[in-house]
This record gives sequence, structure tokens and C-alpha cells, in this order.
Amino acid sequence: MTEVAAENQSDASGDRRVPAIAGYPPVFLPDATRATVRGVSAQDLRDIGVPALVVNTFHLMRRPGVRTIQSCGGIHRFMDWDRPIMSDSGGFQVYSLIRQNPEHGVIRANEVIFREPGTKERWRLTPERVVQLQFQLGSDIIVCLDDCTDAGDDAEQQRLAVERTVRWAQRSREEFERLLGGKHSRGRQAPLLFAVVQGGASEELRRECAARLLEIGFDGFGFGGWPLTADGALLEDILRVVVEALPADAPKHALGIGAPEHVVTAQALGYTMFDCSLPTRDARRGRLYTWLPGYPEAAPRPGVPFYRTFYSRDTDHHADPSPVDPGCDCPLCTRYSRAYLHHLTKVGDAGAERLSTLHNLRFYARLMAALRRAEQLLQ
Ligand SMILES: [Zn+2]
Repeated sequence: MTEVAAENQSDASGDRRVPAIAGYPPVFLPDATRATVRGVSAQDLRDIGVPALVVNTFHLMRRPGVRTIQSCGGIHRFMDWDRPIMSDSGGFQVYSLIRQNPEHGVIRANEVIFREPGTKERWRLTPERVVQLQFQLGSDIIVCLDDCTDAGDDAEQQRLAVERTVRWAQRSREEFERLLGGKHSRGRQAPLLFAVVQGGASEELRRECAARLLEIGFDGFGFGGWPLTADGALLEDILRVVVEALPADAPKHALGIGAPEHVVTAQALGYTMFDCSLPTRDARRGRLYTWLPGYPEAAPRPGVPFYRTFYSRDTDHHADPSPVDPGCDCPLCTRYSRAYLHHLTKVGDAGAERLSTLHNLRFYARLMAALRRAEQLLQ
């Protein structure tokens, strides 16, 4: 049996939530923001052992509209994905757009109003509405609307964001319970509800936010806000504070993290779930990850280099018959040479992006498998 077949089989318990939650961490969820990982099919993703995906409620609400997805049988059927789907609330994207340009909308105590640039269309997001939309999508993991701050926001703004995040989480929980009572028994297929811990760089606010969310009760928790310093280093101290403020067995999602070395560090701190657009974005730009000798058989450790980057557009590769990574079992490395990939990029063929995306996501799938193996050895 191939490595992927073994991973896929360990995944086939029939409970769509298993890989993300029960006994399967850590897990990396590629971003399928608009119900697609750009350029690759759901079958492609299954073939390389991707266990779960993240979609974005805000973007899907705008296009194609949640009603369209519902009429096509829900988000799993719509995108041909039968494994777990987490839907992000979209709060982060709305706030980024509004903060960049206040004409895009306004954030109020009880709602967020977003105005579509160029048209007069107006979207209203409330904590209840965001939970309803995710129920309508049919997500396996639902994320509460939170108030996301900027790293540079002052203490008062951070305090306000925590108050709002906790209040909105409470309302999300109530709406979630109401919808669950109507449509689901609390069985295996009921979705899970995650809340997001805010508080910026303040340890005190982070601890308080986590404690108040714990009191309300959630199935899992996300680390909210920007997780990096201005020069791109991981904010390890504040990430650790949030882990320590939550129960050891609670799923902890490091939202938007990240680079392979950041995933390794955050996993060592106690985070169990990751999503990031980096590997797919890098792939489209011709930036691929390749293993250093000995990996991923050995589990990567924080602070120890375990991969290097390969640039497919680099002219050095124009006649190179070797695969991008001889140790990789992805469709690119098992079938094609560096010269062929370079050629595809030079002629602007979409196949270059597809094969590079599959390579990078396979790299992440194997990274998580290596971290999981190391974790199991410790138990
Ligand atoms: Zn590969």
C-alpha cells in the first residue's frame, strides 16, 4: 500500500470530523476559500492525502451565494469533497477590507455592514447570521464571528475587541444551540462550534478572553489576530499564553499559520490545527518546498532546518532531467522532470500551477504525518 493509501485508509471511519478532531491531530487544512483550491480538483486533493479543507463563509455568501450551494446539496456535494470542511466566519477578511477603506463598510457593536465595492450591494453580518450561513452550507466545523484587531491597535481597542468577541461568541453559541435543536440530534454528524481568542499582544487580555470563552463552552478554539512580528517571526510568547489558558485536550487552531517552520513551532507549543494560503500561493508563484536529507522520515523540530525552497522559474532548471524532489511521491515528482516543469512555466501552461500546488500540499500532508508519528511515539 502506498503512503497516501495508508493515510486515506486510516481516515475512512465514516465520521467526517475524525481527522480534524478526535485522535488525529495535528492536521493542516488547505484553504479552499471560494469552495476550490485554485487549479486542482477534489479528487486531486484526495489522491495526495489532504484530510480536510477550509472555506470562507463571507466569500461564499457573496459568490455564488449560500442559497445556490444549498440548492446543489450543500458545500460537500457542491465541491465534491466528502471529508471534513471547516468554514471560517470571514470576519478577518471583512475587517481587513473595511480597515483598508472605510467606504467598504462599518463595524458596529452588534453587526458588521459590508458594502460591495462598485455596486450598491450591502451585506449585513451578525453573529447569528454567520452561524446560520454555516449551517446552511453544511460545514462540519463552524467558526463564530469575532472582532479581529490589528497588531498595532491600542490597548483600548484590544479591550473593546475582546468584549465584542466574547459577546458575539455567546450569541453564536445560543444560535448554534437553537439550530441544532431544530435540525440535528447531538449525534456524530452534528457540526462543531469553534470560538476565536482575541486580545492582541496583551497576555492578560488573551487569558481573560480564553477564560470567558471556556465558560460559555466551545468544541475548539482559534488563535485570532495577526500571529507574526513585523519582520515575519512567529509571536511565540503570546501563542503559548493562549495554549496554556485552554484545556490540554481542546482542539486549538492556529488560524492562518503558516510557513512550514511556523507550523512545526506552533505544533510544539500545543496547536493541533492549521490552515494557510501560503503553500498554494507559493506554488502558483513557482516556489516549491523540498525536503532536506533524512526528512520527513525524521520529524521536523522547532529551530532545526528541514526543507529548502525550489524556484521552478529559475533558468538553472531548463534542462535538468531530475525530479523536483526525488524523495517526494506527488504526481509532479513521480512523473515529471524539473526541465518539464520549467518548460510549463515558460509557456504559461496552467499545468505548472496545478502540479506545483499538488507538490506543496503533499509536502504539508507529509509534514503533518511526520509530526503525528512523533506525537504518537511520545504517548
Ligand atoms: Zn513532489
